[in-house]
Amino acid sequence: MAGNTTNPAESRYERLVRNLYRSGGYVFAAKAGDIARQHGIARVARLASNENPWPPSPAAVREGCEALQGANRYPDESVAALTGMLARFHGGYSFVTGVGMDGVIETMIRTLVDPGDRVAVSVPTFSFYRLAALAQAADVAEIPRAQDFSVSTREFIGIARDAKISFLCTPNNPTGTVTPADDVREILSAISGILFLDNAYVEFSGVDYRPLMDEFDNLVIGRTMSKAFALAGARVGYAFVPGWLVPFYNRAATPFTLNTISARVAAGALGDREGMEEYVSYVRRWRERFREECPLPSSSSGANFVMFDTSPLTGDEMVRLLAGKGVIVRSCASFPGLPDHYIRVSIGDSWENELFLAAMEEICRPRA
Ligand code: PMP
Repeated sequence: MAGNTTNPAESRYERLVRNLYRSGGYVFAAKAGDIARQHGIARVARLASNENPWPPSPAAVREGCEALQGANRYPDESVAALTGMLARFHGGYSFVTGVGMDGVIETMIRTLVDPGDRVAVSVPTFSFYRLAALAQAADVAEIPRAQDFSVSTREFIGIARDAKISFLCTPNNPTGTVTPADDVREILSAISGILFLDNAYVEFSGVDYRPLMDEFDNLVIGRTMSKAFALAGARVGYAFVPGWLVPFYNRAATPFTLNTISARVAAGALGDREGMEEYVSYVRRWRERFREECPLPSSSSGANFVMFDTSPLTGDEMVRLLAGKGVIVRSCASFPGLPDHYIRVSIGDSWENELFLAAMEEICRPRA
């Protein structure tokens, strides 16, 4: 289906573009500057992208500055310094890296999926699995979660049994739901393809899925440096993979995909475990306060955000009301498989969180 094209060159040449990219695509958060201008507000709370509001570790910044000195050379294609640091941080697993976990997801799908192959996705969830799978002309099958957003292992296995790769996000974006490791084990034992377990938010959950890597040869655990490690702008993701997968993944990857500076920055951040843990405790405290003090019903969350039920308003309506008070949150209307009355709110800096709670109080207070 063609999108709305107003530029004459766009209308003329659109036929050259793949159908898939003529409309739709990834939904980005509103820009703080735009909201500030629109509503005449000086300081806007950015609670829509699950970012870490704190700056990166000084060790990460130092490493990045030093790495710039060597930017005339191509990166080490084996990314050995970063994978070495990952092994020191996590123990002796096999790793692959990418430009954010987005890059890892994309390369993993490119490694495994031929046109027409089945890719199963547990929904509602992060949109990029589907977009990346469609780019590879996959047959995408959605596996609906239960009413309470938990995963039914029976339903998951029924649809994912013969998929090349299946995606399960835990803690799940946007619901925050944590799937127990035993359920993941049950799924892994029953499917013939790869399970990609997206652990972008796992540091905030207290659940550890890594021991499953020792039990299964078809498990990939995706991780990111964007959240707990405060490096969303550096674009570094990685995955725990079974050893057999490493050479195939590297063959499918864009050459030199992860740049030298980002790789060094990530290695620096991994060296500051204490800084990361301090942020995780901060998030947990605020997560509880959000759930207790915000007047809307919420789902239990293992992540650095909370999803709230906005009914009888739609998520989009609540987003507009909050924007008018200088708070940017994410409407969940664009998450397939979720009714339109939810918002997802990231834990931000203290002033941002206070502003959100005060705004919600004003919006929900019964009118006299
Ligand atoms: N998985 C999930 C569940 C996410 O929410 C995100 C980012 N919002 C990603 C993966 C991608 O993370 P990255 O920044 O590492 O590309």
